[in-house]
Amino acid sequence: MSLIVQKFGGSSVADTEKIRAAARKAVRGQQGGNQVVMVVSAMGKNTDQLERLAREINEHPPARELDMLLSTGEQVSVALMAMAIDALGHRAVSLTGGQIGIRTDSSHTKARIRSISTDRVRRLLDAGNIVIAAGFQGIDDDWNITTLGRGGSDTTAVALAAVLGAELCEIYTDVDGVYTTDPRILPEARRVARISYDEMLELASLGAGVMHNRSIEFAKKFGVPIHVRNSMSDAEGTLICSDPESLEAPVCGAAVTSDEARITILGVPDVPGTSHDIFSRLAAERITVDMIVQNVGRSGKADVSFTVPTKELAAALDAVQAACTAIGADDVLCDERVAKVSVVGAGMARQIGVADRMFQALADAGVNIQMITTSEIKISVLVQQDEARVALRAVHDAFGLSQVPRDEARRDVLTVERASEGNGRPDAADIVTRLRETDMEQLVIDDVSLDQSQSLVTLHGVPDRPGVAARVFREIAQAGVFVDMIVQSHHGDRQRTGLSFTIPQADLQRALETVSRLATQLGFDSVSHVARVAKLSVSGIGLRSHTSAGTRMFGGLAAAGINVKMINTSEVRVNMVVDGADGPEALSRLEAAFADVRG
Ligand code: ASP
Ligand code: MG
Repeated sequence: MSLIVQKFGGSSVADTEKIRAAARKAVRGQQGGNQVVMVVSAMGKNTDQLERLAREINEHPPARELDMLLSTGEQVSVALMAMAIDALGHRAVSLTGGQIGIRTDSSHTKARIRSISTDRVRRLLDAGNIVIAAGFQGIDDDWNITTLGRGGSDTTAVALAAVLGAELCEIYTDVDGVYTTDPRILPEARRVARISYDEMLELASLGAGVMHNRSIEFAKKFGVPIHVRNSMSDAEGTLICSDPESLEAPVCGAAVTSDEARITILGVPDVPGTSHDIFSRLAAERITVDMIVQNVGRSGKADVSFTVPTKELAAALDAVQAACTAIGADDVLCDERVAKVSVVGAGMARQIGVADRMFQALADAGVNIQMITTSEIKISVLVQQDEARVALRAVHDAFGLSQVPRDEARRDVLTVERASEGNGRPDAADIVTRLRETDMEQLVIDDVSLDQSQSLVTLHGVPDRPGVAARVFREIAQAGVFVDMIVQSHHGDRQRTGLSFTIPQADLQRALETVSRLATQLGFDSVSHVARVAKLSVSGIGLRSHTSAGTRMFGGLAAAGINVKMINTSEVRVNMVVDGADGPEALSRLEAAFADVRG
């Protein structure tokens, strides 16, 4: 018999009427021939209220006691849900995280799941019950109650679906599914029928707040298809699975994040180990860093820019100031009035001219790009905050995101996944074996690789005005050159920036001729290149949520005296460019740095 997990978020169990509606959905699921496990969040804003209560009593409540308190919200909902199902004449049993055997580590308020036992749940299901699991909570080795971080019920649901080998994990919420961008910002946003795990991970980290990021990492790791649905309607929803919606469209979604601030460190000595010093200090404070860009140094010094969450800016500046003193950098600048606009799509890695389309759209809208970083699945630009919405709309339009992709117009959501079932999906027994060997939420690295086929080109002294990047990459695309990584550094206080990109070595001459022609027209100073660079990639799951990943990487290379010229990060991959001659040594250093977490 097949098994489904149905998760109901706080808004979907906010009052008794909604609890009854959820109970009916579960009963319908069971009548459809499935065993049903429900995972339920606290009612409405109950968790917020409990947090407020705690802070009224004690501004810094002990984390263990906070977990003891917060976990009660879910206990209320599971009991009421079981009563609602009983009232419908069906059998149900509610269980706390501890009663299910959801074992976590002891980091209260942000615990990670280590293992889940399935015996009791299975016995109850086999006896004909609907099992109702409290989301968001577990127990540590000493039987202390832990919670998984706000929004953690999604993670409970996907983790249960994984260990039970569920056919599907349904997430019931108050929106119709995943959209091409936040419909509150752009009403023309479109609900997508399907999205791949990697795309969803990127969009979620860019603030598409549909699901807890770690739950998607889980789903990817264990191959659990997720169906996001509106609990108040029968709308089709969005399936999150291994396949993207379209094989043709380069971009599936766009996002804007306005809660990040930029930090620029001026005059960083361009020697191995400086990045490691800066970013390990930030990692030690558990600050997540994005858009790391270093302009290729001349005269032995470089500027390093990156973004951090605005609420962590003060802590980040402290850490950076300390790093500056240690490494002998000149100065630190920061700007809070910035926004990061990104496009995401699994298809962009296979197409020429995607970045160019984005830059052109921004130029046409008169938006100046302050910084650029790209990866295989994402392009992000930093713009002035008050231009964020204009920029988002320009980009959303440029990729036609409001229209259903041509190759996907008639496919039905669920048939697609059922047809591809078994495709690389580990079976339950396999998952249980893997769990015995590692923690469920461990950082997992699938691949460390070296690409020695590329050259690096840098334009120096590029004027900081709209349209420059668009022009450069349009001409390069017209010359038929495939651009891989692009970074535009921030100008610091100099009004001129550096623009670097990597291309196949075979295309180097053509690219150099193209950009040299542009120098006078666009008014940049000079072009330099490195004929042979090495690109190192580390891909896996949890690279960003485990802030130690960056320390391992930078540390491994710094110890070998290898200088990192360029870097970009996404949820599932980190790329670094080093001098061609350093490639093999860098590869073995990275392999060693991640040897204990290879998947
Ligand atoms: N009730 C918890 C929260 O509000 C967990 C959840 O809803 O997923 O964060
Ligand atoms: Mg919630």
